[in-house]
Amino acid sequence: MPGKNLSRDEAQQRASILAVDGYQVQLDVTSAPDPAAATFRSTTTLTFRCSEPGAATFLDLLATAVRGVTLNGRELDPATAFDGARVHVDGLAAENVLVVDADCAYSRTGEGLHRFTDPVDHETYLYTHYEPADARRVFATFEQPDLKAPFTFTVTAPAAWDVWSNAVHERVTAEGDARTWEFAPTQPISTYLTAVVAGPYHVARDHYSRTLADGSTLEIPLSAMCRRSLAPYFDADEILGVTKLGLDFFHEEFDYPYPFGKYDQAFVPEYNIGAMENPGCVTFREEFVFRSKVTDAAYEGRANVILHEMAHMWFGDLVTMRWWDDLWLKESFADFMGSYALIGARTRYSSAWITFANQRKAWAYRQDQFPTTHPITADIRDLEDAKLNFDGITYAKGASVLKQLVAYVGSEAFFEGARRYFKRHAFGNTELADLLDILEETSGRDLKSWAAAWLQTAGVDSLTPQVTVDSEGRITELAVLQDGDVLRPHRIAVGLYDRDADGALVRTARIELDVTGARTVVAEAVGRTRPALVLLNDDDLTYCKIRFDAESLETLRAGLGDIQDDLARALSWSAVWNLTRDGLMPARDYVALVLRFAGQESNIGVLQSLHQQAKGAVDLYADPAWRGEGGRLLADGALRELRAAAPGSDHQLAWARFLAQTANGSEHLGLVRGLLAGTARIDGLDVDQELRWSLWLTLAAAGQASDEELAGELAADNTASGKRQYTQALAARPTPEAKAAAWSAVIDSEELPNALVEANIAGFALPAHRDLTALYAAPYFKLLERVWADRTIEIAMRIVGGFFPRAQISEQTLAEADAWLDGNRGAAPALRRLVLECRDDLARALRAQACDRA
Ligand SMILES: [Zn+2]
Repeated sequence: MPGKNLSRDEAQQRASILAVDGYQVQLDVTSAPDPAAATFRSTTTLTFRCSEPGAATFLDLLATAVRGVTLNGRELDPATAFDGARVHVDGLAAENVLVVDADCAYSRTGEGLHRFTDPVDHETYLYTHYEPADARRVFATFEQPDLKAPFTFTVTAPAAWDVWSNAVHERVTAEGDARTWEFAPTQPISTYLTAVVAGPYHVARDHYSRTLADGSTLEIPLSAMCRRSLAPYFDADEILGVTKLGLDFFHEEFDYPYPFGKYDQAFVPEYNIGAMENPGCVTFREEFVFRSKVTDAAYEGRANVILHEMAHMWFGDLVTMRWWDDLWLKESFADFMGSYALIGARTRYSSAWITFANQRKAWAYRQDQFPTTHPITADIRDLEDAKLNFDGITYAKGASVLKQLVAYVGSEAFFEGARRYFKRHAFGNTELADLLDILEETSGRDLKSWAAAWLQTAGVDSLTPQVTVDSEGRITELAVLQDGDVLRPHRIAVGLYDRDADGALVRTARIELDVTGARTVVAEAVGRTRPALVLLNDDDLTYCKIRFDAESLETLRAGLGDIQDDLARALSWSAVWNLTRDGLMPARDYVALVLRFAGQESNIGVLQSLHQQAKGAVDLYADPAWRGEGGRLLADGALRELRAAAPGSDHQLAWARFLAQTANGSEHLGLVRGLLAGTARIDGLDVDQELRWSLWLTLAAAGQASDEELAGELAADNTASGKRQYTQALAARPTPEAKAAAWSAVIDSEELPNALVEANIAGFALPAHRDLTALYAAPYFKLLERVWADRTIEIAMRIVGGFFPRAQISEQTLAEADAWLDGNRGAAPALRRLVLECRDDLARALRAQACDRA
């Protein structure tokens, strides 16, 4: 559709002549409960100024139909003004009032105004999600972050519903079967941050108050909501408890009163991402409402997201990037703050930095080694670029680099910088230079070269220790070798570890220093006895891949699990995983480490990563000739540790889930069936609904679940979650018919909601079914361009990434991918980026397999 992909140049041009004074948006969603009603009425009244009277401009709008366009009282013909993506207006005055009356579509893809009907009670729920540019699916907008304005929403909805938006409602009037909610004007905010949530949601309410420095009292009404049928599982006290700790913490650190009045948090169905920081009206994926037992890592993850979104109220909502190039200005900070605040706000999640080192950084390392990687401050030409940039660089690498910045300038200078940044740029838009100027003021350091090295270049360095010793085993030199396309200044700690009397590996010395250039000598280490393990980047201050000298690597092979400190152990696990991914450690050696030491791993989040990575090592990185044996070893290990785990513990649940993922022989599958039937029991293990679905998925993938059995489970759990997992189980059956049905459901219909697209892809693409799915590689490459053109970008991204033949690890698939890339140089850059990344994963798997074979 012409004009759907707004460019940076167009946005700059528009911002150079326009200033928006306000939006009044009226939505009528009374038709929502009727599944036959495809659209809702949307009327936008925009008041704006133009510095070049007589000029033309356009609004963004993805509507089914436009009924009327009126500019300064002059009626325009919608048939010529509206081209499907934009409303063109010309002859602007210095001051303008523009009214656009449109019919917009209810969304099934999570983009725009999403509509969901609960299979349990048939209630309908709505919520909006816009970032980066889907407000235009709901009302006519200047869809760019730097044209901020106050928004006044009015929503007419079924009488039995409640409606929320960014601001408080001022009035609710009833008329017939409907009620109209009039909301107060918001502060000036960006279009992508506006929100509406409507439906018969279950609500928990609370209150936060605080005495400010000037003696006044800040009152913030709090609420948390979810679908009614999830209410029995909704632990609102825990959620609101974390919320209050966070509000305390950010007020202390940021010294700027929360600017958006009230704070609602809605847990909504079929949500595409983790959460969204709409000011005063945050939305979360409802999988954060736990229907069954989950490990504490899941609670920690949710608390992290709550604090991440809250940090955005300042970083992102109060001060916003000018354009998507500087998305990191909010996401890197919020990602950093999510972990920082878990500790600083004194939540019970004290291992936040371990999780960060182990999981967030794994995401960053992966992304940063793609050929498509980019600097943290990116070059975002248009909205498709923007959509793909919510990635491991913008979030996790950016956060890692901020962690390094705190080590470099100190936390006081860093937070004083944040405080000045909010005061100076409140309700405005910023770029990199605005932040650097302030941090230079507060730190007294020149940050230009630091920023050039860390923010404006791409790629990850690796650091390797080089140890020489004398005849008595004393260190004569310890050097840190830096390797990478860009050599950066790193503030690091070097840990020296030895065995204590009980055999544990403990740190005997910590040396902090600046590493610069290709080789840096650690002077302080000279004369010490050579330790069993030299751990670079101990305490995880910088962002790098850690390598080991030969003796340290031998120590890890013999005793990784004996490292006493949780963070040091997590860093070591992360490092050996990077060695495996880089084809420097055979996959079977990594699997052996996991089988030997994962049973000792006390950190539940790290354990769950190890499970995922060990499975990936066997599926993707192991020599195919060894894959079968590797899979059996994992399943045997899972069963052994499951039986050994403490009854009722998180570890027991994690091992049970891992068994469900790896079970392949008759003994394991028999146990799975027994657990489902209740004929087998493991002391303390509650086979609750989510675990039941995991077990059914295992049987389905093995061809041992009948259609009747799966339908029976769905009948017993006819919920949104049940339906997703049932769909996934059907797609996971090892038959050509099942694969064909899943493929067709996703490709041949645009009606399937996002959640079921995802479920079909997940079931279809099981690595174990590579023989069955091989014949889809050729059609996949043929339909890429059509999918990109026809589907919304969210769904297109899922199809391109999800159906890529990643289990067909062969030179032939690589050649097919290359042929597509060569033959489609003119394809959308965002589409090419996705294919390039999948192609790179494949090439990496081939290298890792070669290593494992050797
Ligand atoms: Zn965020």
